Amino acid sequence: MDDLKSQIELLYEENRKLMQDAKMLRLICETSTSAFIYYSYEEKKIRTIANWDYFFDFKLTDMRQFTKFYDWVEEKYRAPLKEVLFLEKRGMKTMTIDVKVKDSRMWVEVETNIIYDDEGRLSDKIVRFKDVTKFNSQNDELTYMAYYDLLTGLYNRNYFVRLLGEFVRRGKEEHKPVSVMFIDLDDFRKMNDGFGIIIGDEIVQMFGQLLSDFASDDVIVSHFNGDIYCIGIYDPCGDRSVDAIYRKLLEGLKNPFKLSGGQEISLTVSVGVAEYPEAASNSLELINCAEIVMFKAKSTGKGKIQNFDGSILEDFLQNVTIDNKLKEAIFEDNFMMYFQPQFRAADRKLRGVEALIRWKDDNGKAIRPDIFIPIAEKNGTIVPIGTWVMEESIRIYAEWKKKYHYPLLISLNVSAIQYKQPDFIDQVIQILDTYEVSPKEIELEITESILIDDFKDITEKLVILRNLGIRISLDDFGTGYSSLSYLKGLPIDTLKIDKSFIDTLITDENTRIITESIIFMVKKLGFETIAEGVETKAQFDYLTEIGCDNIQGYYLSKPLPPEEIEILIEKTLA
Ligand code: C2E
Ligand code: CA
Ligand code: CA
Repeated sequence: MDDLKSQIELLYEENRKLMQDAKMLRLICETSTSAFIYYSYEEKKIRTIANWDYFFDFKLTDMRQFTKFYDWVEEKYRAPLKEVLFLEKRGMKTMTIDVKVKDSRMWVEVETNIIYDDEGRLSDKIVRFKDVTKFNSQNDELTYMAYYDLLTGLYNRNYFVRLLGEFVRRGKEEHKPVSVMFIDLDDFRKMNDGFGIIIGDEIVQMFGQLLSDFASDDVIVSHFNGDIYCIGIYDPCGDRSVDAIYRKLLEGLKNPFKLSGGQEISLTVSVGVAEYPEAASNSLELINCAEIVMFKAKSTGKGKIQNFDGSILEDFLQNVTIDNKLKEAIFEDNFMMYFQPQFRAADRKLRGVEALIRWKDDNGKAIRPDIFIPIAEKNGTIVPIGTWVMEESIRIYAEWKKKYHYPLLISLNVSAIQYKQPDFIDQVIQILDTYEVSPKEIELEITESILIDDFKDITEKLVILRNLGIRISLDDFGTGYSSLSYLKGLPIDTLKIDKSFIDTLITDENTRIITESIIFMVKKLGFETIAEGVETKAQFDYLTEIGCDNIQGYYLSKPLPPEEIEILIEKTLA
C-alpha cells in the first residue's frame, strides 16, 4: 500500500515537473523574438512556434510547403536558404546563414538543427529564425563605406587600389596588360566656385553616372575625390580598349549635362593613361604614372588624353627635385645675376642690359631659368627670388653707375605673381631709394599672358609705376594673343619682338611681312622696339633696315657676368 502511495506521489511529482517545464518552454517561446519550426520525423508533423507572425504572413503545416520560403528572400539567398531548410539531405547536424528579406531591409538569421537517434536515423528538426537586421545593416553601411564612394556609388580609392592590385596580379600570371585611365574634370574649381558646391556635387555625380556605364568584370570604375576618377582595365582590347572607352566618353560628353536647377553644363576632361607592365609593376605606381601624364595632358590644353611616356615621368621627377631644391636654396650661395646687353640698331651703341638669373645647385649643376622659374611660380618661391633678383641687379647696377656714369637702362623680368603682391610697388620704390637709382633708369618686363589674365589689376599697377617714371616693356610679343589692336591702350614704353619671329625672318616671307607691319605699327603707337634672340648678321641687317630700334641676341652678345659688362661699358666709353 505504502508502495503504491509512494509511486503515485512520484508520478504526481513528475507530472508537476513536466507541467512546469511545459510552462517554462511556452514562456520562453512567447517572449522570444525568434520563430521556430519543429518537425518530428517519426510523427511527420510540423509545428510553428513562438513569434511566427512577426516573420511570416503564411502558415506552415507541411514540409512540402517549404517552397513558400523561397519567395520570401532576395533572389541570391534562395539557394543557400534551401540548403539550410533541407539540411538533413546533406547529413549535417547544424547550419546557420543570414538572408535578406525581399522588398525590405530586414536581415534574418536562419539556423537549422537536426537531431539523430541512437541508430543514426533522423529524429527531429528545429529551424530558428532570428531578426539580425540591426547588426547586419550597421555592418552593411560600414562595408559600403569601406568599398564605395557615397557621392557617386562608384568604388572608392582604397578599394579601387585593391582591385587594381588584383588585376595586376592576374596580369602577371596570365601575361596580360592592365591599363589605368586617370580622369580629371577640366575647370572644376571654377564651376564649384561659380555655381556652389551643391551643383558641384551634382556634376560629380552625373559624370560618375556616365563612367559607371563602363564597369564590367574586367573594368573597374572609381571616384577618388573631388573631380578625380580612375578606371582600371584588365587586358584592354576591343570594347574595353582605352581608345574605345575614351571614344564613348567623348560621345557621352558631347551633349551638355542638364542639372536639376535647369542649368546646362558642358564638360571636358583630361585623361592620363598608364599601362602595366610598361609604366609600372604595382597598382599604386600605375595610378601615380597615370596621374602624372594626366597633368601633362592638362598642361598642353584641356580636353586631351595623354599616354604614358618615360620622358614625362623623368621631367616630372626633375620638377619635384627642383621644387625641393628651390625651397632650400640659399640665394646668395646659389644664384647669380647675368646681364645681356641690348644695342641700338643704328649705331650699335649699348642701350641697356636685361638682368637674367643664373642658378647652380650645390653640385655645381646649372639649372635653366625657363625650367625653374615656372616651378618657382607654382611653389611661391618666385616672390623671395624676385625680390632678390631686383635687389641684387640694382645693387650691381648702382656700382656701374657710380663707376662709369654711363646712361644705361636696366631691364628686369617680373613675374605675374610678383606684380600681384600688394606691396610690390612699395618694394620697388624702397630698393631704388636704397641704391640711389632713379626710376627712369629701370625698365620692368611683363609678358602678354599676365595682362590677359588679370588685365584691370595689373594695368592699374603699371600706370602707377609709369607715373613714377619707370619704363614698362612688353616681353615675348607675338607668342600669345599678338593682337596689335589691343596694344593701343596699354601703359607700355617698349615692345620686345619674340625670338620665334626672328628665327624665321630670313627664310619665311610671311614672318617678314608680319614683323615689318608690327614694327611699323608699334612705332606709330610711339613704342620703342627690341628684337630678341638675334643670332646672325643677316637678321641684324634686315631688322636694322626695317627700322627696329634695338637688337638683343647672341649675334652681338650672350648674357654676361657683371665684370664682363664692365669691360663692355669701358669699351663703349673709350
Ligand atoms: P626671356 O625674358 O625671354 O629672356 C631671354 C632669353 O633668351 C634668355 O634666356 C636669354 O639668354 C635668351 N637669349 C637671348 N639671346 C638669345 C639668342 O640669340 N639665342 C638664343 N637661343 N637665346 C637667346 P634665359 O636667361 O635662359 O632665360 C629664360 C627665361 O627665364 C627668360 O626669358 C625669362 O622668362 C625667365 N627669366 C630669366 N631670368 C629671370 C628673372 O630674373 N626673373 C624672372 N621672373 N624670370 C626670369
Ligand atoms: Ca625678358
Ligand atoms: Ca623674351
